[in-house]
Amino acid sequence: MHEKPVALVTGAGRGIGRGIALELVREGFAVAGCDIVFEPGNAASGLFEAKAAVESLGGEFLPVRADIASLDGHEALLDAVRERYGRLDLLVNNAGVAPKVRLDVLETTPESFDRLMDINLRGAFFLTQKAARLMIEEKKTAPDRRPAIVFISSVSARVSSPSRAEYCISKAGLSMAAKVFADRLAEFGIMVYEVRPGIIRTDMTAAVKEEYDGLIAGGLVPQKRWGFPEDVGKAVAALAKGSFPYSTGLVLEVSGGMDIARL
Ligand code: NAD
Repeated sequence: MHEKPVALVTGAGRGIGRGIALELVREGFAVAGCDIVFEPGNAASGLFEAKAAVESLGGEFLPVRADIASLDGHEALLDAVRERYGRLDLLVNNAGVAPKVRLDVLETTPESFDRLMDINLRGAFFLTQKAARLMIEEKKTAPDRRPAIVFISSVSARVSSPSRAEYCISKAGLSMAAKVFADRLAEFGIMVYEVRPGIIRTDMTAAVKEEYDGLIAGGLVPQKRWGFPEDVGKAVAALAKGSFPYSTGLVLEVSGGMDIARL
């Protein structure tokens, strides 16, 4: 049984997931990071680069191959975490994708719709269901632990983008999943939170960098800068370390003030 609290971060090979893993390690968590991209020979990017970055901070990182959309693999993923660390204190549902092609809502294809629901919503929902059952069991023998689950949704859970309707809908669904699990798991002392990133500089937003540079310069984001993975990581770490013990269901937006209604 590991003496440190243990976090599982999905999609931890790059971007926001990697940033979350690093901040959790700084808060004293041992981390398991899973990703659909799993290249043990690649030290320059992906899970094994993240592992090296975590180890340079003196932390522990277990890389696991997993496709979150494939429900059949969830048991093996949780088994891998328990085999290495013997416990699970935190699940961060971060893995997610944008549409391969942005199409107007009048042109959205069923294939893209299903792909985003499978990865962003259905995968996270059923992984959470399994992890929650595990946490309920573990809490019986370790009542002092503070298990928690964090959903990384997006400002797109509340903001319409007609050129990527399926993304917005998947994130709105994820937001409700966080709420329902928060409600159901409260009696077990399992905290559930939703974190809504705004415009974060990662590979996901690389294709629209110039467009967003212009929008940020034009005042869309009151703090007038891109967000970075560590901005989201610090928010998750604050939730994970137990700073909000009476706030299950909290929705924390990390968007430089995009949620301020302005005139
Ligand atoms: P990213 O594309 O840079 O990284 C996502 C990671 O998830 C990659 O390592 C990828 O391989 C992995 N992944 C993709 N599909 C997977 C699957 N089926 N199973 C396991 N791993 C999978 O994206 P990011 O910008 O770091 O985004 C991370 C999360 O944050 C996503 O859920 C995204 O929707 C959300 N988000 C991002 C932004 C932004 O501006 N970048 C804003 C709001 C929300």
